[in-house]
Amino acid sequence: MSAETNPPETPAAEQIPGFVCPVCGETHVLSIAYSVKMPLAVLKIPAEERDTRIVMTPDQCVIDNREFYVRGRFLIPVQEIEEPFAWSLWAEISPKNFLRTNELWETPGRENEPVFTGYINNELPLYGEMRNLVIDVQTMPVGRLPHFLVRDAEHPLAQQQRNGITLAEVEAIAIKMHHPETVTE
Ligand SMILES: [Zn+2]
Repeated sequence: MSAETNPPETPAAEQIPGFVCPVCGETHVLSIAYSVKMPLAVLKIPAEERDTRIVMTPDQCVIDNREFYVRGRFLIPVQEIEEPFAWSLWAEISPKNFLRTNELWETPGRENEPVFTGYINNELPLYGEMRNLVIDVQTMPVGRLPHFLVRDAEHPLAQQQRNGITLAEVEAIAIKMHHPETVTE
């Protein structure tokens, strides 16, 4: 979203100042988007076998022609700004849904597809155990990553997706991402 479309009282993300970190005293950028580059399953394949066993693009991954992963985003509204916070992670989906996603990759209107099931294939210690967390995958218009929604309404990430977070909470996330040793969960 460009700065021009934002009313003056809701700063664009690039205008959010950095903050002085209480852990290390440095100034960190206050990021509202974090992205994990690959599914966990990729790391379990020996490095010398990855070229032959894995087909990978920035948004899709197939292992041994039988495990299918897509990248998507958990969006969390941030109270003080217009743009949402985003976790970009990977989920395993069924072969059928993967094929369908591929067929519709460039098809206008694909966002009208029904929601389907995915299983998170990354770790994100901020929310406890994330691996195999059940999600709803909502296809978005051409060119945009699918939205991920936690199916268990009681899960802390589901609560954040529903209720939003504050910039102070975004800062707390930034501190944990910079200093994983401070995450106690
Ligand atoms: Zn720090």
